[in-house]
Amino acid sequence: MHDVIIIGGGPAGLTAGIYAARASMKALLVRSAFNPSLITTTDLIENYPGFPDGIGGFELVELFTRQALRFGLEITDDDTSAVSRHDEGGHACWKVQGSSGAHTALSVIVATGTEYAHLGVPGEAEFTGRGVSYCATCDGPFYRGGRVVVVGGGDTAVQEALYLTNFAASVTIVHRRDRLRATAVLQERAKANEKISFAWNAVVEEITGDDAVRAVRLQDVRDPAAKRTLEADGVFIFTGTIPNTGMLKGVADLDNSGYITVDSHMQTSAPGIFACGDCTRKLLRQVVTACGDGATAAFAAYEYVSGLKGTSYGGYTP
Ligand SMILES: Cc1cc2nc3c(=O)[nH]c(=O)nc-3n(C[C@H](O)[C@H](O)[C@H](O)COP(=O)(O)OP(=O)(O)OC[C@H]3O[C@@H](n4cnc5c(N)ncnc54)[C@H](O)[C@@H]3O)c2cc1C
Repeated sequence: MHDVIIIGGGPAGLTAGIYAARASMKALLVRSAFNPSLITTTDLIENYPGFPDGIGGFELVELFTRQALRFGLEITDDDTSAVSRHDEGGHACWKVQGSSGAHTALSVIVATGTEYAHLGVPGEAEFTGRGVSYCATCDGPFYRGGRVVVVGGGDTAVQEALYLTNFAASVTIVHRRDRLRATAVLQERAKANEKISFAWNAVVEEITGDDAVRAVRLQDVRDPAAKRTLEADGVFIFTGTIPNTGMLKGVADLDNSGYITVDSHMQTSAPGIFACGDCTRKLLRQVVTACGDGATAAFAAYEYVSGLKGTSYGGYTP
């Protein structure tokens, strides 16, 4: 029986792990080996404090992991499929079911982040891995000298489009509106980059090719009859994310989009289950906010478990 099981090995889960292990909780972190932290797919984080020259996403997660292991956090690779109530020894506790077994704990912290949203257009699934990608760091070098299309207009899309100019001859950003949603500094960099052009008010209708992607068919949102074809070797899709929260359906409250609703203590509607990071309903999904949420969730779980054990100082009021 653990004091706490943390599901997720990204910035939120690892920060919760650092705080829980350092508070001498018997803590286990379970993370998916197949569906890694989204931050490991970006090559440069410029806005996480303490790294004035920026740091790679993979490298940052490695540093978080080393720090957590130093405090004795137990880490295992497994995919969690369900979290269920499991009363044991007079205590209400929770069972975390993975593909290679189950673990029980007095409390659970869910930090499962999000995964990329798909466009759901013809050709997308068929050409994934043969021209369609959701990770510029992973696949950008395959498009050296090529024509690349980036779909999306937020921070991630623009940041990744800029990164792709290191390899591609041209990058076209396809966006459904007539202006970008990305932060001003990224917009300025994109507009100043001569390799980047824009297809405004456009959505992808179909991705076509043979053994690999050859073109993208666009539809004008203002006039659905107006179509055009962009020749392309690669299509990178950054149109948003969806939360990995299926394991909490029917256990704790989720909002209409599937994000976990939490209070200011990161407590969900199920007593003893806390949630933090990108999988929760929140305004800003970034590394720094995920870390802050993770620290709060671990402290709240610590107070909750201390309450169950009768050792609490009474600092936590859910
Ligand atoms: C391309 C890109 C660039 C970005 N750039 C920046 C940036 O410059 N600055 C910034 O601050 N933020 C950036 N972000 C946002 C940042 O990645 C997220 O805010 C941050 O990773 C959230 O951390 P998290 O721990 O909540 O989730 P994640 O980092 O996504 O981690 C989720 C964890 O949960 C695990 N998991 C998921 N499902 C399961 C399951 N069923 N069982 C077990 N484990 C599971 C995963 O393996 C992973 O370990 C970027 C995101 C992307 C996609």
